[in-house]
Amino acid sequence: MENLFCDFCSAKAPAWCYPAASFIAMTIGPLVSASEGGWAACDECHRLIAADNREDLAQRSLSTLIEAHPEMASVQGELIGSLRDLHARFFAHRCGDAIHVGMPEGATAAAGPTRSATDAD
Ligand SMILES: [Zn+2]
Repeated sequence: MENLFCDFCSAKAPAWCYPAASFIAMTIGPLVSASEGGWAACDECHRLIAADNREDLAQRSLSTLIEAHPEMASVQGELIGSLRDLHARFFAHRCGDAIHVGMPEGATAAAGPTRSATDAD
């Protein structure tokens, strides 16, 4: 999953996958967003989705989009509307709970608790 990006904010290696029905792709300016099947989400976006905090989710997508494409800042009023619409479609098409895909097996665990038995005899 390390080659994936969060479908909401483009963060690398998203840890969550939301099952969703495929729906018609939409175009945001020069970007084409195809939606086929599930959506990947990073921890932060997952938190916003789980909390149904759609406004913060749209704002987060907008700021990362503009970070990557500064020339789009001039149309951000339009963009936020498109993102809200796109996310509304996601919420309408999602089916089931998020699946935690986590880190690939065998990856070095840099974060997270590791099971270590420290029983002294
Ligand atoms: Zn994200």
